[in-house]
Amino acid sequence: MSITVVGSVAYDSIESPAGRRERCLGGAATYFALAASFFTEVRVIAVVGEDFGPEQEAVFAARNIDTRGIERAPGKSFFWEGSYLENLNEAKTRNTELNVFAAFEPKIPGAYRDSEFLFLANIDPVLQRRVRESMPNVKLVAGDTMNYWIKDYRPALLEVLKGLDVLLINDTEVRMLAGNNNLVQAARAVMALGPRFLVVKHGEYGATLFLKSAPGGRGAEHRAPALPLEEVIDPTGAGDSFAGGFFGYLASQLELTPSAWRRAMFYGSVMGSFACERFGTERLQQLSRPEIDARFQVFRDLTHLD
Ligand code: AMP
Repeated sequence: MSITVVGSVAYDSIESPAGRRERCLGGAATYFALAASFFTEVRVIAVVGEDFGPEQEAVFAARNIDTRGIERAPGKSFFWEGSYLENLNEAKTRNTELNVFAAFEPKIPGAYRDSEFLFLANIDPVLQRRVRESMPNVKLVAGDTMNYWIKDYRPALLEVLKGLDVLLINDTEVRMLAGNNNLVQAARAVMALGPRFLVVKHGEYGATLFLKSAPGGRGAEHRAPALPLEEVIDPTGAGDSFAGGFFGYLASQLELTPSAWRRAMFYGSVMGSFACERFGTERLQQLSRPEIDARFQVFRDLTHLD
C-alpha cells in the first residue's frame, strides 16, 4: 500500500530551551513522509523554491521517498519560525512566509494515482481540498491542520473536513475548531463536521482516538501515552511524525481492525517521541526499524496492566 501526502516542505528556524537552529529542513509533509517511510511507500506533493538543493533532496532519497510530485518554482521555499521558550508543548509562531506555496497549483503525477491512502498534511485548506478532489478513489483519507488555518481560513477548512475519514489535530485546536472547551464535546462536534475518526494529540501527554460511531457516545475511545522523555530537544514535527507513524502503520496493514487502529496510535507515539530527541529531522534521518520496534515494546510495558 502506498500513501500520497500533500503538505509543506519548508525551512524552519527553531528556538527551544536546548538552543537555536536556523533554516533547517522542515515542513509538515517532510516529517510525515520520513516517519511513514519506515512502514510503507510514500509519495510527496509539494512545492519548493530555488533554495532547495541536493542536500535536502538527499534526505528524502535516503528513505526512498518518491519526490516526483515536489515541484520547483522560482522564489523561496515555505519558511516558518517558531519558539518553545514559553511552552515545550506548543510552538509560538514568530513568522510564517508562504513564499512559493502562495501560488502553488498541485499537480498529481500519474505514478501517484494508484495510492490507496492520502494524507493532507498541514497546509492551506484550499490546496488540501484540490488534492483530495483529484484523488477520488483512495481508500482512506486523513488530514491535519493548525490554528493558523482554523482562525482565518475556516470556510475552506470546513470543506476539507467533509472529505476526511480521519482528522488528526492537537487538543487546543480541536477546542478552537469546535468553540467548546470540553474535550469530549469538542470531539463530537468536530466529527459532526465530517471525519469518522478523530485523533486528538495532547503533546507530552499522548493522544486520544475518538470514533464517531461509538455506541452511546462513550467506551470506544482509546488513549495512547507519550513516552516521558528525559530531555526534549525540539518538539517541532512531533505531531507530523505521530501522523506518519499512525497512518504509515495503518497503510501497512491488510485489514483495519480495531486492534490495528490501537496499534497505529502507539506507532504514532513512538515516532513522535523520536522526533523530539534532536533538532529538526535529525533523529528521524538516523533512525532504524529495530529502534522503532524496541520503543514500541517500551510503550507496551509502560501501559501494561497485569
Ligand atoms: P508540528 O508537527 O505541528 O510541530 O509541525 C511543524 C511543522 O509545520 C514545521 O516543520 C513547519 O514548517 C510546519 N508549519 C508551520 N506552520 C505551518 C503552516 N501554517 N502551514 C503549513 N505548515 C506549517
